[in-house]
Amino acid sequence: MDRISWNHYFMAQSHLLALRSTCTRLAVGATIVRDKRIIAGGYNGSIAGGVHCIDEGCYVIDNHCVRTIHAEMNAILQCAKFGVATAGAEIYVTHFPCLACTKAIIQAGIQSVYYAKDYKNHPYAMELFEQAGVHIEKVAFDETTLDLKNEEKREYVEQLLNALKHLGVSETDLKKWNEQARQLFG
Ligand SMILES: [Zn+2]
Ligand SMILES: [Zn+2]
Repeated sequence: MDRISWNHYFMAQSHLLALRSTCTRLAVGATIVRDKRIIAGGYNGSIAGGVHCIDEGCYVIDNHCVRTIHAEMNAILQCAKFGVATAGAEIYVTHFPCLACTKAIIQAGIQSVYYAKDYKNHPYAMELFEQAGVHIEKVAFDETTLDLKNEEKREYVEQLLNALKHLGVSETDLKKWNEQARQLFG
């Protein structure tokens, strides 16, 4: 039995949270962890009770949607709201944090940042993390990571496509299906 790693477990939680995002521009999730326990989570969305970008469209100023609170910020604020210490904690995020979140993460005493996707990684954010001695690590993670049968499904589809090829379906169809399989299985 393959046991999921801690990194993948917490990163999966962040990706699950990202599915709750209400902003159409980018879906981000963040999970704060201390001593291998999840202490808070957040996704990018409006303030509680506010209208949602997915219903009303984004409120864009200077090419940024200003309606939403970022996932990292929401997770940190959840700790503030309920009085949970963040000093020495770790944060797992789907995307590399923006400058404002970088500063909040450092100031909250979070010691490690694990992220899945590079996203406009700002050199100043890197510099601030380094100065603060925050550990930064990219964790390889995508939708296929949690599909434990991904490889079996890929092989199955490959067999079907080969059978279709021998049955003489058109090259155009084959090419299209092969491309779809490639996108599905990574
Ligand atoms: Zn928005
Ligand atoms: Zn941010």
